[in-house]
Amino acid sequence: MTTVAAGFEELYGAPPEGVWAAPGRVNLIGEYTDFNEGLVLPFALPHRTFAAVSRRFDGVLRLHSADMGGEVVTLRVDALEPLSGSGWSAYPAGVVWALREAGHAVTGADVHLSSAVPTGAGLSSSAALEVVTALALDELHGFGLGRPELARIAQRAENAFVGVPCGIMDQTASACCAEGHVLHLDTRDLSTRQVPFDLAPHGLALLVVNTRVKHTLGDGAYAARRAACEAGARQLGVGSLRDIPYARLPEALARLGSETVRHCVRHVVTDNERVERVVAYLAAGDPRAVGPVLTEGHASLRDDLRVSCAELDLAVTTSLEAGALGARMTGGGFGGSAIVLAEADAVDPVVASVRKAFTESGYTEPEFFPASPSAGAHRVHSG
Ligand code: ADP
Ligand code: MG
Repeated sequence: MTTVAAGFEELYGAPPEGVWAAPGRVNLIGEYTDFNEGLVLPFALPHRTFAAVSRRFDGVLRLHSADMGGEVVTLRVDALEPLSGSGWSAYPAGVVWALREAGHAVTGADVHLSSAVPTGAGLSSSAALEVVTALALDELHGFGLGRPELARIAQRAENAFVGVPCGIMDQTASACCAEGHVLHLDTRDLSTRQVPFDLAPHGLALLVVNTRVKHTLGDGAYAARRAACEAGARQLGVGSLRDIPYARLPEALARLGSETVRHCVRHVVTDNERVERVVAYLAAGDPRAVGPVLTEGHASLRDDLRVSCAELDLAVTTSLEAGALGARMTGGGFGGSAIVLAEADAVDPVVASVRKAFTESGYTEPEFFPASPSAGAHRVHSG
């Protein structure tokens, strides 16, 4: 925190008006459902993105990231053009653009960022960056926007300004998650419910395995899955795949001609059901029962949606062989991270086995860390 404020002062010559933080996330279950009006169950990581920010009143927006090196990017708030910029500054610039588009008069700002969220690892460093920028500007300008609204502004920045067709989960998780809870988000009406998720008293742990394989959501594969889901909904005559109840799935599948579309529909409908099942197990105080549901979810992402990769599959199968209760890829896939639910005393053997399997396959050594549900975005320093 102090280093972000100090970095700001070094760059801009005065202390910031404040420092804010927004976390990355992992999604426990419910993947590729958030653009189908479906259910998701993310929680916030302890890894956060910090933003030291001051207002300006001359229309100038200055952006700097300690993690990207390079010069301060200087822009004008009234000249921000969607899809015009390349590189990291499009994310915070997009937030300023989206706020202004929504009628909130951002008159300029100096921003300095520093993050502990790994980028391109499926842990939502992009949403953390957007949400921290949105929250800082909201609080400094006194717009009084609620957390769900900040999440929508952040998503609009990523969709329309950066050009990544993501759903609403990542931004909502970063903005709305609470310590010790998973966030049960219904992306149909954006209603949320905090579900207690405290594994330690049960003798359990959740391990994140960052394969270090960089995913690139912009490469078209994500958009192709999205298009297949939309085609499925159209062919079934429904507004979104959320309208297909789990009990009617066989009937719906029988009406679909394309195998690709059929598989995508099956993934989305079954993953919505898996979210409900996991929430029920947590409510019943039986977190061990969550393990096999995670593993089922991985099989669906690997075999039906086909968004996994060899490294993620190896992390999952090796973890299970080493005694984990369940494991799956999390986030958009094609690289990024897996999560592993295990007895706390099985974490070390799981880590050792996955490390060995990666070495034997000639893959880069993954990054491992245990994750407990942490706080959503908040102000950390009054400046
Ligand atoms: P993910 O959200 O899974 O980490 P994305 O590809 O969606 O991956 O977003 C990663 C991008 O977000 C980076 O390439 C960079 O442009 C931007 N970004 C993330 N963190 C930072 C940071 N600390 N400083 C500057 N840009 C960042
Ligand atoms: Mg992202």
